[in-house]
Amino acid sequence: MEFLHSLPKSKVLFGDGKLKQLGSEAANYGSNVFLVTGKSSMEKLGFLDKTKKYLNREGLSYTHFNEVTPNPTTETVNKGAQLALGEGCDVVVALGGGSAMDAAKAIAVVAGHKPNGGSEDIWDYISAAQDDSEPITEETLPIITVTSTSGTGSHVTPYAVITNPDTGGKPGFGGPPMFPEVSIVDPEILLEMPPKLTALTGFDVYSHVSENIVSKGDHPTADPYAKEAIKLVSEYLPIAYNNGDDLEAREMMAVADTYAGLSNTIASTGLRHAMEHAVSGHYPEVSHAQGLASLAIPIMEYNIEHGDKKTLERYSKIAKQFGEIDKVTSQKEDALKSVTALNDFLGKLELDKGLRELGVEDSSIESMVEGTFEYMKGDIEHNPVIPDRQDVKEIFKQAM
Ligand code: NDP
Ligand code: MN
Repeated sequence: MEFLHSLPKSKVLFGDGKLKQLGSEAANYGSNVFLVTGKSSMEKLGFLDKTKKYLNREGLSYTHFNEVTPNPTTETVNKGAQLALGEGCDVVVALGGGSAMDAAKAIAVVAGHKPNGGSEDIWDYISAAQDDSEPITEETLPIITVTSTSGTGSHVTPYAVITNPDTGGKPGFGGPPMFPEVSIVDPEILLEMPPKLTALTGFDVYSHVSENIVSKGDHPTADPYAKEAIKLVSEYLPIAYNNGDDLEAREMMAVADTYAGLSNTIASTGLRHAMEHAVSGHYPEVSHAQGLASLAIPIMEYNIEHGDKKTLERYSKIAKQFGEIDKVTSQKEDALKSVTALNDFLGKLELDKGLRELGVEDSSIESMVEGTFEYMKGDIEHNPVIPDRQDVKEIFKQAM
């Protein structure tokens, strides 16, 4: 056995009302905050005002940047970094979902490196986009996140995902300096997620850990997080979806999201994330998780059909966490129970839609195949079965 385990440095403050501690936590890292949010949800729900109040209370100044859209772009990041530098900000705070958190991380990279001679374009720091990318060093500004979804695990990972609208490329990238210093998980904010967003983000949690479990190599320190997260999602996501006010279900989904971030930092995602990034890179209006849901079944079938014994055993572990079988085996029929379980689960969450229904056109398939191989090589290499272009094309067709 051989593996690498590195601990995230993020301090997680979890609990109802923890947002109140934002100001005192941020004050440990700077005095001039660059506050990153999406366009409207946090303002409408009143959390933006609360956040400003808690920053003010500690005597911190802030600049608010509310231009992050779902699947954030290079353009938004570069604009935010320019503004943060102009205002002399020394700490970046994200209030929002994966999109706000990832944009904030990327802004912290550019705003931290540019004054020291680094590039002003985030694309230059992304290793999947070019061979001679600029290094991401400790010059990165300190990052604090307040997560408003239970989905990406970005509050405890060193990763961000940024889209380049010129190419449709949507690579993930990162490095230890991009771990948030502090992450606040306040269920009061999570209670406000509407059902659709709850289902989508919850499915992203499932997706990370189920890909981690089957990913190539040994990851014994990730597997317990991943297994527990699958169990929590299978039990609590349908409850949170059907009754958003259920605090226990919201809390358990937030725990699952945190486990998934920890697992995802150690083990890799696979073909599902590789192919999805090509979908939402080409169609930014498609949500990340719906793209994952639409691709999930054909990819699982492909991996089980061509996978070795270890892969079958790992899929059977997923089936066991869903309560479909009692004992882990390396039998194909047990591995396939993970597919049946997921099919039912997608139905319960109303995520059982083909890519065509999301607006994806057949004419984009070739370009999405290229995008998969160009920007998401790492995820392909970690998939239990290494596909070629023809395989990926066939899977896209099946997922339409
Ligand atoms: P987003 O952050 O994209 O948010 C989706 C929508 O939900 C937005 O319109 C947002 O509104 C709204 N919203 C957010 N929180 C709430 C809330 N509490 N109540 C009501 N509405 C809310 O969603 P995700 O968290 O799913 O993030 C997806 C992004 O993260 C993708 O770009 C994906 O690729 C990336 N990702 C990153 C990973 C990582 O490791 N860094 C891993 C996996 C995915 P508004 O914009 O107005 O705030
Ligand atoms: Mn994801």
